Amino acid sequence: MPKEETKLPSVAWRRFAECFRAATGLRIAAFGRDGAPAPVEREEDANVCGLRIERGDRCVSFYRKAVQQVIQGDEPLLFRCPGGLLVFGAPLGSVHGEAEGVVALLGGGALAEEPNSEQIALFAHTAGLTKEDAAAAVAEFPLVPPRRLVELAHLAQFSLTAVVQGQSARDEFARRQAQVMTLFEVASDLHQSSSAHELQALALNTLGVLYDVPSAALLFREAHGEAFRAHTAMGSLEKALLSWRAPADAHPIRTLVESPGRPLRLDDLTALRKLGLPESVERVTLFPLSGRREDVLGLLAVVNVDLPPDDEQLIRGFTIQLALAVDNQRLHAEVLSKGAELRAIQTLSRQFLSCLEPDALFKAILEEARKITGAQRGSLMLADNGNGELVVKAVSGINEKVVQKLRVRPGDGVSGRVFATGEPILVQNIEHDQRFSRKNRPRYSTKSFVSIPITMDERVIGVLNLSDKLSGEIFAEEDLRVLEGVAVQATIAIERSSLYQQSQELRKISITDSLTGLLNRRYFQERLAEEVDRATRHGHALSLIMIDIDHFKAYNDANGHPAGDKALMLTGRALRGSIRAIDVVSRFGGEEFAVILPETRKLEAQEIGERIRREVESLYFPGEETLPLGRLTVSLGVAGFPEDARDLKALIQKADQALYQAKDQGRNRLVIFGVSEPAVPRSATVAAAWTKVL
Ligand code: GH3
Ligand code: MG
Ligand code: MG
Repeated sequence: MPKEETKLPSVAWRRFAECFRAATGLRIAAFGRDGAPAPVEREEDANVCGLRIERGDRCVSFYRKAVQQVIQGDEPLLFRCPGGLLVFGAPLGSVHGEAEGVVALLGGGALAEEPNSEQIALFAHTAGLTKEDAAAAVAEFPLVPPRRLVELAHLAQFSLTAVVQGQSARDEFARRQAQVMTLFEVASDLHQSSSAHELQALALNTLGVLYDVPSAALLFREAHGEAFRAHTAMGSLEKALLSWRAPADAHPIRTLVESPGRPLRLDDLTALRKLGLPESVERVTLFPLSGRREDVLGLLAVVNVDLPPDDEQLIRGFTIQLALAVDNQRLHAEVLSKGAELRAIQTLSRQFLSCLEPDALFKAILEEARKITGAQRGSLMLADNGNGELVVKAVSGINEKVVQKLRVRPGDGVSGRVFATGEPILVQNIEHDQRFSRKNRPRYSTKSFVSIPITMDERVIGVLNLSDKLSGEIFAEEDLRVLEGVAVQATIAIERSSLYQQSQELRKISITDSLTGLLNRRYFQERLAEEVDRATRHGHALSLIMIDIDHFKAYNDANGHPAGDKALMLTGRALRGSIRAIDVVSRFGGEEFAVILPETRKLEAQEIGERIRREVESLYFPGEETLPLGRLTVSLGVAGFPEDARDLKALIQKADQALYQAKDQGRNRLVIFGVSEPAVPRSATVAAAWTKVL
């Protein structure tokens, strides 16, 4: 093939990687089938941390293994590299055919949380750096929650696929590439939009310009979640679309909300009217905007245009970015007080920023204040939400034990007074101060001290006390002013630390299924990959049980969807109650569940599976009498690693096959792969033929 016809010239790849980095802050590299850098990739860029990988590095085998795992499936996976960084892998070849020998993209090089000393030591060890250099390098890695990484991996997959897919003609390729790059550039602007409206308008205009979309609208869920309401619209139908309110439980939208992923195309006029769309709308494509907390926080509706599949895919990638930006904006708006801008946080002193763990943060605030004023002693007290008293959070130069149990009520003593009034107190000589006139306590060497309030939203949340200047001097007004600056920074850091903790909470939510509280499928797959990896390394066995509720459609039909949901919840609870602490149970999809049993042989797994089966059988589900078996039951399939399968995908397949056998043998039973009676084909037609033969 002549050079100019290659589908992914290396300069195009490089530009793609640069744009991806600009839009997401993450590195990305292209790999070939052998797990080595793809021909289009430069040696020095074939990494996710910015450090050149040398032959023989532990990193080389990590990249190779990651690529091998990723290309087993279609979906992105997450890994932890030998240096402790999170790395995403996105398969390319298996989904849409390789381009120029690129079968997988690896990227990320992010941290899920603020680095601690262990992380720094691990990185120093792996990269062969000194502690100091490693600390500096690690401080530069972006903080990204795992789920976001997976989403960004999807984005990379979609957009690169769109670049290369079937575009052999040069000008078409160039047009396509320009579109993708523009999308990336816009994506990075999205994250900088200062208002929700600005962000939405930018997103819609981009679509209008790049895809000749005649009209589009962005809808967001109403407060109680019953409907999606248009917030922004553009194009010829802007006015009409702005009054659109789509009920969230209307048939096709519900499907989209329950299993977000593929966009939904509708051109049935009756269905369109049912969704409340104006007369002038003849077709619509709905893209879900998936947030972290609610599964779907909004919809992008593209109206009256038949999008070609690759455009649809690109827009899908774009909506991932858009949803991230919307979600981010909301998180900040919620957690930060209205006035506290992101910018203020960015100017915070590095010490504060680097400690998100509250105790370390309190200590850092106090130390900073002490250093600035030259005080030898100090304490930081914060209001205890429970009873409105001040509690000591950090001390310096004072025996910790002495003050640990100290509680100060509003109005009591100097701190209590500052707490109650919100006014700082500067005492030059305690013995001569009219306000306190009392003897200096023996533990203080000088008679001067300051006490200043820490306020949040005009509420006093704590008090910072400093005493005993090293120089023996007295505190001055100047010290007060400086300390007030520290207090403002402290407030922001404390807020940010709670923002951080909240985002940790969110992370927990993002790996669980909201209905059952079990792990969700995506996270399950990550865990299974880890467990298979561990079992391989240590030569352990591992079992997998796939579980499916019997005749669940009939149960739903007879008792209604909400009753079905309740039954799913109950089943989830029964599963959790039947397994051991080391087992991992997840909702695999609809009415299917999966359990990973680490270090467990199939026969042991059979026991646990039987326990689950009996438990569900014996549970009472309202309305279960109507089912063919008279009860709500589950069927189970068990497969074992390594005897039945040597990788994750095959293991799931084998357990699934066993599950199908259980169904075909009459349901409410457990089948172990390779152990039970010969399989009867499950498909209805083949099964019927089989019956005839018999
Ligand atoms: P089988 O014994 O062969 O498994 O039959 P089945 O009816 O259970 O299987 P089928 O796959 O035909 O139907 C699964 C049903 O599960 C269809 C769908 O309505 C229901 N379902 C899937 N997810 C949910 C959910 O989140 N809530 C409710 N209520 N029902 C769900
Ligand atoms: Mg099923
Ligand atoms: Mg079923």
